[in-house]
Amino acid sequence: MRIPARGAGQESVLGALEGFRADDLKWRTGKAWAYVFDAGREAEEVCKKAYAAYLSENGLDPTAFPSLLRLENEIVGMMASHLNAGPEAVGNFTSGGTESIMLAVKSARDWAREKHPEIREPEMILPHTSHAAFQKAGHYLGVRGVPVAVDSETMRADPGAVRAAITPNTILLVASATSYAHGVIDPIGEIAALAAERGLLCHVDGCIGGFVLPYFRRLGAPIPDFDFAVRGVTSMSIDLHKYAFAAKGASVVLYRSKELRRHQIYACSTWTGYTIVNPTVQSTKSGGPLAGAWAVLHFIGDDGYLELCRRMLEATRELAAGIERIDGLRLAAQPDGNLLAFASDTVSVFHIADEMTERGWHVQPQLAFAESPATIHLSVNPSNTAWVREFLEDLRASVAAARLLPPSPLAAMAKTAVSSLAGVEISEQMIEQLLAMVGLRDRALPKRMAPIHELMNVIPPELRSKALIHFANGLFTPPR
Ligand SMILES: *Cc1c(COP(=O)(O)O)cnc(C)c1O
Repeated sequence: MRIPARGAGQESVLGALEGFRADDLKWRTGKAWAYVFDAGREAEEVCKKAYAAYLSENGLDPTAFPSLLRLENEIVGMMASHLNAGPEAVGNFTSGGTESIMLAVKSARDWAREKHPEIREPEMILPHTSHAAFQKAGHYLGVRGVPVAVDSETMRADPGAVRAAITPNTILLVASATSYAHGVIDPIGEIAALAAERGLLCHVDGCIGGFVLPYFRRLGAPIPDFDFAVRGVTSMSIDLHKYAFAAKGASVVLYRSKELRRHQIYACSTWTGYTIVNPTVQSTKSGGPLAGAWAVLHFIGDDGYLELCRRMLEATRELAAGIERIDGLRLAAQPDGNLLAFASDTVSVFHIADEMTERGWHVQPQLAFAESPATIHLSVNPSNTAWVREFLEDLRASVAAARLLPPSPLAAMAKTAVSSLAGVEISEQMIEQLLAMVGLRDRALPKRMAPIHELMNVIPPELRSKALIHFANGLFTPPR
């Protein structure tokens, strides 16, 4: 493919882009329970206008664009008080939850290098339900993630298991409020107390729950202390591009004090170019996400968020109760906010997900891992709340339909094949055969995903990851 020989008109360019969306997830219907956080057209419009207005400003140098510095400091200030941080708290605006988490892990690593130079192979303790971003951060930064079991009833982190996993190499404990997969709050008080007692750092991942939990508490939900009000919590992440409804590319990482945040900032003075001092991973960065987030916080406002949270909380409770009334389904854990996951002991959740797709919904299947069975996840949005009754009716019908579908024979075959491979080095060729078995020869995913999910669900996690890398390595192939 080549750069077009001649420039085209604005209309034809923009029209082409619009056309490309035909096969995208139809999130505006309010029938998608993942991916897009939607508070309605008005909020979206304000956010987009502000984003476009600041698109070209460069966050590389906040002294050249004091407006961006002001927006960032104000947003960080709002999030700090939202999460009960004291006057010493500081933070930065980042491109997303993953970057916030990476920076928190980097700060912990470099803090430990200074405070504990004897630690050569730093470790962080990761409950099985903690977000994959921590493992990714560990992979990038050379901090070993030590996985620990969670309570299989509540799906909350188990402070006893965390305590038992602490070694002389431990630098950081991690807890979630709420966890993404099951939407539950870990016992933050106990985990943070443990960190304080051992002189360790403690990060609370509030990427998805941090913004809404203070509102749920004001609405009377039993939300335990989960933020900087808890002694021992040293850093937190909170995403604005989730339930603050900002455009994607908006999150905040917060620290109890500058003393810890100091380790996040990178400066380079050994090259021939302009001065480099980067608090975050990106260097040149658009002011768009920052302005979009600031605008939407001001447009919706505290009263607006409280009302949106009331709708989401009520809808989640109705969904949870409705799911428990459907024969064959059970909640994987009692949810603490507006996210939930359900499982089945008798029907394939992957077939249920396909049946829901047939009926115009998008739900998110999650593979079984450790204490968690295979589940279907729902992230509840304001735009979903009008659909609860219809959703539950279609879910009941989908369970009935899925019950009649036989489990894919591939999963059983794969299980046998994989067990015969124990100890054998997995080659690219074997992965290719595995993907071909489920019809994944080219890049298009089939409409019914159950055979693929069922296969992935039974193969060991290392093999899952290898297959995913192989798949992505093919997916991102430019047209020739
Ligand atoms: C979404 C999420 C993340 C990762 O955030 P991204 O914005 O997708 O990078 C981390 N932790 C939790 C709990 C999340 O829900």
